[in-house]
Amino acid sequence: MSEIPEIDGLLGVAEYARLFDMIEAADRGARPCYTANGARFLRAPRVLTTPGHSAYVKISDGCDNRCTYCAIPLIRGGYASRPFDDIVDECRRLAEGGVTEITLIAQDTSRYGCDLGDGHYQLPELLEAVSAIEGVHWVRVLYCYPDSTDDRLLDAIQRLPKVAPYLDLPLQHIDDDLLKRMNRRGSAEWIKSRVAECHRRGIVLRTTMIVGFPGETDAQFETLLDFVKEARFDRLGAFTYSAEEGTAAAAMPDQVDEDVKRARLDQLMMLQQGISMEINAARVGSACEVLVDGFDAEVGRFYGRSLLEAPESDGCIWLTNKQDLTPGEYVNVRITAADAYDLEGEIID
Ligand code: SF4
Repeated sequence: MSEIPEIDGLLGVAEYARLFDMIEAADRGARPCYTANGARFLRAPRVLTTPGHSAYVKISDGCDNRCTYCAIPLIRGGYASRPFDDIVDECRRLAEGGVTEITLIAQDTSRYGCDLGDGHYQLPELLEAVSAIEGVHWVRVLYCYPDSTDDRLLDAIQRLPKVAPYLDLPLQHIDDDLLKRMNRRGSAEWIKSRVAECHRRGIVLRTTMIVGFPGETDAQFETLLDFVKEARFDRLGAFTYSAEEGTAAAAMPDQVDEDVKRARLDQLMMLQQGISMEINAARVGSACEVLVDGFDAEVGRFYGRSLLEAPESDGCIWLTNKQDLTPGEYVNVRITAADAYDLEGEIID
């Protein structure tokens, strides 16, 4: 705080229960600093900011990967797994309070457990324990890193019926030279084999790509487009590279012009739009269970998601034939229409 005199008070991420104390103390001019000796995980009771039936649960904090474009390790520090029983207890309390959908998150979920016990990745065991909790109906996991998304994890996702057969696997690029400059682990060949394995197992894939990373040539961008055409991701988000203060990539030569980045982004997203449209259209006529999320007064319809749509990041399923639903209920739906982002369906039970 001595370095930034403008700060009135500091509150650690695990200390938000002391927010009002901090405001009062700051108001008295005390410049409070509540950081609980650097505690990384919240001990106070949870306040849900999501609908009451769905909750995100953080399983680790920080990151040991050093992607050259990313400032998160500088801000959050190294990887720290949250104790296994703490996570399961929190999920149990959430389920007792009416939450039926749990989404496990972290900067890097697939490495969970690397700093606990004998260091083996424990996400498969965690998925098993969370899905065994009474009242939990669906479990999701987001933000896996490709090289720790091993067969044990894929086996657990396939074996556990409450776990969404869905992987969010940010890949960022597929050109070996760029992957190296991004300091991403895993070669293009290895990444392609992982993607093929997920497809073989019927696991829905979401990924994220960066366009316009320093030094990205037209040819390397074409390689990315070819990969996206071939891999046919169910969902793909993309960003133009932006330099983050203090990162290695910010100081790299050959920064790409903003208008080139923008054009590449548009080209990639147009390509993906066509792929998503085809994939969604193939679902018309199929049936699925849908969790009702809410009612959109402007559209005049309820909407929800199946196991294959993650909250917030994916599209939704608009429900066309019922007006008397309750957010949080599960209904059986037949898909009747699709666009590149959303689906429509009617309740069949
Ligand atoms: S991009 Fe993700 S994996 Fe890479 S350093 Fe940042 S948080 Fe870690």
